[in-house]
Amino acid sequence: MPEKSRMGILGGTFDPIHLGHLLVAETIMDEFSLDRVIFIPAAVPPHKLGSQVSAARHRYMMTLLATCSNPRFQVSDMEMHRQGPSYSRDTLAELVKEHGSDTEFYFIVGADSVASLHTWNRIDELLELCHFIGASRPGCMPDMTKIYARFGALADRIHCTETPKLEISSTAIRERVREGRTIRYIVPESVEQYIYKEKLYRNMI
Ligand code: ATP
Ligand code: MG
Repeated sequence: MPEKSRMGILGGTFDPIHLGHLLVAETIMDEFSLDRVIFIPAAVPPHKLGSQVSAARHRYMMTLLATCSNPRFQVSDMEMHRQGPSYSRDTLAELVKEHGSDTEFYFIVGADSVASLHTWNRIDELLELCHFIGASRPGCMPDMTKIYARFGALADRIHCTETPKLEISSTAIRERVREGRTIRYIVPESVEQYIYKEKLYRNMI
């Protein structure tokens, strides 16, 4: 039987995408022998309802710019074509339908997201559709014993791995732009230029 293709998925708000996202995706792609990683910007991030988020087209564009030099990185606009909150369960169901049983899916998340997995919409169904790989993130030490206990038999679908820790967040980047501070070497140069050209984050509350 032919080997299944192994697809990584990195969902996020990407407001903006930064080197933390790229390094986690590359490191996990290597460690788990993934064939590619698809970056999927959320149109309406369920965890950020009520907060100010940049237009989806800007976040999509920045994700394209940041990933275009890596032939094994791809960007999908699939969540931008759906109405309502961008639930990963619906995204995975769509991917499974598109790629069938020839592909195994690995959802990549940072440690902060691993800690809140139980709050995700229809998480039990999602765990049936894909594995989760949790990447270490400075300042986040999820209690894995508690998390595994919570998911019972599905716990073996959740994997954790050490990745080089980069203390970078989109929140801190938005803050730096608003304060007129440098973001060089925290985001790819193309993303930095895009942020300035489109005047993003300057007037955030
Ligand atoms: P924000 O501060 O706006 O929440 P963020 O930096 O957390 O932005 P997201 O778009 O929310 O970025 O993150 C998408 C995914 O990438 C999440 O699973 C998050 O945990 C992970 N992630 C983001 N930054 C890092 C980082 N520096 N190291 C490891 N994982 C990260
Ligand atoms: Mg976040």
